[in-house]
Amino acid sequence: MLVKITAAVMEKADGLVTRRLIALEEVELEGPREDEVLVRVTSCGVCGTDRGCLHGQEPYPTPGVLGHEGAGTIEAVGRLVDNVRVGDRVMMGFPFCGTCRSCRRGQQRYCIHGGALMFSGHRLDGSSPMQKADGTPLAGRFFQQSSWATHTVALARQVVKVPDGIDADLMGPLGCSITTGAGTVFNELKPRPDSSIAVFGAGNVGLAAIMAAKLSPATRIIAIDTEQSRLALARELGATDVIEHGRDTVQAVRDLTDGALDYAIEATDGSNLVSEAVESLGQLGVCAMVGGAKASASVSFNHTGVLTTGKTIKGVLGGGGTTPDFHLALMRLHADGRFPLERLVRRYPFAEINQAIDDSDAGTTIKPILMM
Ligand SMILES: [Zn+2]
Ligand SMILES: [Zn+2]
Repeated sequence: MLVKITAAVMEKADGLVTRRLIALEEVELEGPREDEVLVRVTSCGVCGTDRGCLHGQEPYPTPGVLGHEGAGTIEAVGRLVDNVRVGDRVMMGFPFCGTCRSCRRGQQRYCIHGGALMFSGHRLDGSSPMQKADGTPLAGRFFQQSSWATHTVALARQVVKVPDGIDADLMGPLGCSITTGAGTVFNELKPRPDSSIAVFGAGNVGLAAIMAAKLSPATRIIAIDTEQSRLALARELGATDVIEHGRDTVQAVRDLTDGALDYAIEATDGSNLVSEAVESLGQLGVCAMVGGAKASASVSFNHTGVLTTGKTIKGVLGGGGTTPDFHLALMRLHADGRFPLERLVRRYPFAEINQAIDDSDAGTTIKPILMM
């Protein structure tokens, strides 16, 4: 069964030269396999990783369809699917195989097939459910969802039913950026009482981390960014202090914390401030590397400086945690008004996808959500 859908097709990565290489076109989508679901996509976020692939910073085959913060309505389910039903409102989270060593240990974000599931553009068997109208194959499986489209086919295990009374179209970003920021605090750092936490980068990931830190017993929450408007929003969402990023950022953090910063989160979109984040930490401090960077990027830090202070430098993918539990927690916190992620969002018609990407690149919109 092939259905005709509309998808945002990336013909080739633009290498930052031009940002107009995405066009909406009619393509064909096959029906779900036994462990998959067909979703009528109603909204999808624009995330740093979409833009990284579009601009050639991160790998993705072309022609292909991006989008990995989708939400929508279940239209069909495969034979083995029992977690959702036709008509359910859902959001699509990180993909994972469910059977590897990491998945069996409850570490789905570190699925050993994660790289292929996210970036190959195909299922693990090499197939893709999308093709162009003329039969040209499409990499239609970004994060196993490619949801910059009116419909898509995803793995049932990555889909989470949105509880009644919650705006499902606002929940798509829980598939990546928002969960990444909040999960870093809740699942990985777990701030101890009266601790300090500094967030480098107050974009969608960093602001989600700040909202989560506000719900933690950390008492000093420092937001660092280059933009005053984002720092002002960070303050409204829970930052106790803000620092405009510049030459003396590390010293400014030390001054605020008497040199005893407990946690640093590097959540920039490719600026790679990990070295500064590590340097800002006090004794036994922990730095979480969370933000995206060029696939070839590396980080340096002083050997003695880390060794003698007992610092920890930790990679965090997607905020850790498990599907669906963690997504449901954030949805319910949001419903209670304790996790106001709507403050980050601006909605765009699907046809204005290039504008949404431009605004996100420029930083004028923190979290664009495309409305199909
Ligand atoms: Zn796995
Ligand atoms: Zn993402």
